Amino acid sequence: MQLQFVGCGDAFGSGGRFNTCFHVTGERVNFLIDCGASSLPALKRLDIAPDAIDLILITHFHGDHFAGLPFLLLDAQFARRTRPLVIAGPQGIESRLMQVMEALFENSSKTKQRFDLSVVALTPEETRSFGAVDVTPFPVVHGDSGGPFLAYRVEAEGRAIAYSADTEWTETLIPAARGADLFIAEAYYYDKVVKNHLSLKTLEKNLAEINPKRLVLTHMSNDMLARLGTLAHTAASDGMIVEF
Ligand SMILES: [Zn+2]
Ligand SMILES: [Zn+2]
Repeated sequence: MQLQFVGCGDAFGSGGRFNTCFHVTGERVNFLIDCGASSLPALKRLDIAPDAIDLILITHFHGDHFAGLPFLLLDAQFARRTRPLVIAGPQGIESRLMQVMEALFENSSKTKQRFDLSVVALTPEETRSFGAVDVTPFPVVHGDSGGPFLAYRVEAEGRAIAYSADTEWTETLIPAARGADLFIAEAYYYDKVVKNHLSLKTLEKNLAEINPKRLVLTHMSNDMLARLGTLAHTAASDGMIVEF
């Protein structure tokens, strides 16, 4: 299995990084985790074929995680995609997707796709299987707008990937990421504790209990990006590939 960071930036393009989007591939799986506003150009820059993606998991409805979908869906329509596509995310995803489609491309939400598109609302702590991918969402804490907010534990081909999504520290990250082969965690600030986001120092306090086999930091603000050379952990960069 491999995961490529298509984008690992925050909402504001800090460090010139693209919005959040991870591409996971294995022998029988090909899916994205999040699809931020800049994700379609970021996929194309890496020569990743959007047509081959079977599943897109969405953590929450902030634009840097969700707003790439209208571009991707319209591109699929014009590229005459035939492969079915599943988009799964928090409760309310069907209506939020329609709203963002309409806001960005008027009438686009009324277009019937040439391909089979399923939009699936997930329930926290209920595992759903999509082909060879088992997905368990966990509720996380990220403010008053753009939710519900989900972290994911994704199991496929004998491997487990966990992604914290955007969140302040919450105990649900422990079962979500415990022992995962790869844990991708937000590290927005180094040691500053704020609402709605995770700092590296807070994450470190809980790492022993989570005990992931690998940790990669993502969604870093300028505060973290300025420390990149000094961190004791692997930090994501756009285009980086992790094999696990
Ligand atoms: Zn974000
Ligand atoms: Zn967010």
